[in-house]
Formats: sequence, structure tokens, C-alpha cells
Amino acid sequence: MIPFNNHPRATNPLCSVGLQLDPRIYPARLDLSPEEEFYSFIHQFPDIEKQLSGAQATRAWTRTDRLQYSAQHVVGDRFALLAHAVGFIDPLYSKGLYVTHMSIMVAADLILKAHETGDYSAAAFAPLETLTLRYMHMHDQLVAGSFKAWSHYKLWQVYSVLWLLGAYLEYLKLTVTRLRATNRADYLAQLSELQLAGGGFAPFFVLQEKIDALIDAVNPDDEAEIDRTVAEIRTIFSSFNWLSSAFRDLLAGKNHLPNNKLRVNLLNQTDGFFGDGIYREHFFGDASTFSLVKKALSEQARYSVFALDRQRSTHARLAMQTTRHTDTTERANGHSSQNRESTTSSPAGLVSPQ
Ligand SMILES: Cc1cc2nc3c(=O)[nH]c(=O)nc-3n(C[C@H](O)[C@H](O)[C@H](O)COP(=O)(O)OP(=O)(O)OC[C@H]3O[C@@H](n4cnc5c(N)ncnc54)[C@H](O)[C@@H]3O)c2cc1C
Repeated sequence: MIPFNNHPRATNPLCSVGLQLDPRIYPARLDLSPEEEFYSFIHQFPDIEKQLSGAQATRAWTRTDRLQYSAQHVVGDRFALLAHAVGFIDPLYSKGLYVTHMSIMVAADLILKAHETGDYSAAAFAPLETLTLRYMHMHDQLVAGSFKAWSHYKLWQVYSVLWLLGAYLEYLKLTVTRLRATNRADYLAQLSELQLAGGGFAPFFVLQEKIDALIDAVNPDDEAEIDRTVAEIRTIFSSFNWLSSAFRDLLAGKNHLPNNKLRVNLLNQTDGFFGDGIYREHFFGDASTFSLVKKALSEQARYSVFALDRQRSTHARLAMQTTRHTDTTERANGHSSQNRESTTSSPAGLVSPQ
């Protein structure tokens, strides 16, 4: 369930509700309508059933077959696929739009380069293939590991830390790179090691591969084996020097991350944000705390509620300016008023506000 009304300024009152089943265990109930099948399954879970008791569908119920698919190649001479044409794993961690945007950004950069060089070969677009397949692979591992770990709470307690740590490091890398990068080429170069989770930080991938191998191998029905696996995973985490206290608390039994993830201890010189050499080097490079904070504050101001509201009101005026601009251009081109009307109905944001 994904609520779109989960913050005070939300304008969308809806929730997105979906149910995903493993068709090997729950074959489609074609004798029931999609709605009936949904509620017959939900009926087994009184808490969820109660939560949905007053829900009303705002669009027709749909049911679809298996969602997963994947291609082995992403690019060829004179063609390239965007991420969702390459594959789909699972909506579990809501990574779809991130993958989509990353794929578009890299593809756009390569297309601009190809436009200059005239080289639209598969080799010229290879970085898109590398990135997309890496993201797909990590997504597959994380989703498969999570599904398996759900079979026993002890497994999930440790595996959830891998997922959260991976997501946190990725977010950190994306955020700080935005502050550090000097231009588009620099930005993409700094993000070139990303794999969807882990922020491109090599020690994370070592840890993740070991933990995923253990989760792959464990028999979820064997309590003693589960205990051994969990103990091994805990040892692996304890050798990872950059685990902040919020994650250590999860390993110690807490079942949620704090609301405010900014802690003074993140600034510790030994184990905090700016701690060990390779961590600092990877995420912060030679950027000073002062320069990052200054840039972060200017971004905060630029995207603050106040600034965005102001921008919206300015956009309205720009829309009119754009109309005038379009009118002038069209008059110069000798276009009819009928054409002008259809041109001005396109979104103002897409037209250069000169
Ligand atoms: C069940 C589910 C839940 C998801 N939940 C999340 C989430 O919570 N968070 C998140 O970030 N992402 C989520 N995603 C992923 C997200 O929807 C995708 O990342 C995103 O929609 C991909 O954008 P796109 O423009 O590349 O492709 P699409 O949104 O699929 O757009 C492709 C468009 O092309 C059209 N099209 C296809 N073939 C043709 C043709 N031959 N001619 C003309 N038009 C054509 C299609 O009809 C479609 O409108 C979810 C996906 C699914 C399936």
C-alpha cells in the first residue's frame, strides 16, 4: 500500500493498493473477479482487512500475469533500451523511478555524445548496458534475499539492515555527489560505480555478496542453521567499520530507524560521516565540510516550500509570456490563429521562458 496523502501538503487523497502473489504457490483464481480474489486473500489477515474496510476503488480492478521479465542486452548498433524495457523484478522497494531516471540520464548523455561524434554503435552505448544490468542484478538479489529472509524473523532482522544500509549509502552518494559535482560529466563520472544499493562503495559490495550468499544457502526450516547464519551475518556486520549507531540499534533488536537520521555522532572523526580514509574519500572526496554545508543550505533554500510556491506563481506569469512569445514566433512564421491555440495549450514548463 502506497499512500499519496502521507504529508500535510499532499494534494492527492488516494492510496495505491496492490497484491502480489507467487503463482507457483497461489495460481490465479480465474473463477473469481480480480476484486473477489483480492478480498478472499486479504480475508486471512484481519488487521489489513479492517484497514481496507471503507476503501473504494477509483479505477477498475486489474489482474495481470507474472510481472518479471529481463533481457540480456540493453544496447545494439543504433538502438538502446530504457530500464523498464530491459526488465522488471518487483515493485517491493519502489526503485522503479530511480532506475528509470538514472537510465534516462546516462542514455541522454550518451546520445548527446553520439550526436557530436556520429558514433551510435553498441560500443559507444556500452556504459548504459553496464549500468542497467548492474542495477537489475542488485535488485534481483535484494528482492530474492528479502523474500527468503521473511520466512524467519531472525533472518529478516539482520537482512533488513543490509537493505537499509544499501539504500542509505546510495542516497548519501547521490546527495553528496549533487553537492560536489562541478558539471554533468563530473557528476556521471562520480556515479559510475553505482549498483542501485551501496553508493558504489566497494566494502559494501564485499559485505553484501557474503550476506547474500549466506541467505541463499540457509535452510529456513532449520532453526539451528538459521542461528548459525544469523551469527555469521552479525560477525560480518561487526567487521564493517562504517555502520552508524542507527543500524547497530537495529541489529540489537530495535524494529525501526529514528525519524531524524541526522545525529551528532555522524560527525565523529573516527566512525562518523567523515571518519575512516576510504569512506571519506569515496563519499566526500576533497570537499570541505564548509563547502558542502554551504551548497546544501543553498539547495535547501532553492527547493524550500516558500521558494517552490514562489516559483509556481512565477511560472503562471511565464506561461503568459510564453504565449506571447509563441504568438510572435508564429506570426513571423505566418501560422494561423487555429494553430496558435493548439500550441499554447501545451504545458508552459516545456517551453523556454525567454
Ligand atoms: C505494480 C508496479 C508498482 C510500481 N511501484 C513503483 C513505486 O512505488 N515507485 C517507483 O519508483 N516505481 C514503481 N514502479 C515502476 C515505475 O512504474 C516505472 O519505473 C516507470 O513507470 C517506468 O517509466 P517508463 O516511462 O520508462 O515506462 P512506462 O511508465 O511503462 O511507460 C511506457 C509507455 O509506453 C507505452 N507503450 C508501450 N508500447 C508502446 C507502443 N508500441 N506504442 C506506443 N506506446 C507504447 C505504454 O503504454 C506506456 O504508457 C512500479 C511498477 C509496477 C509495475
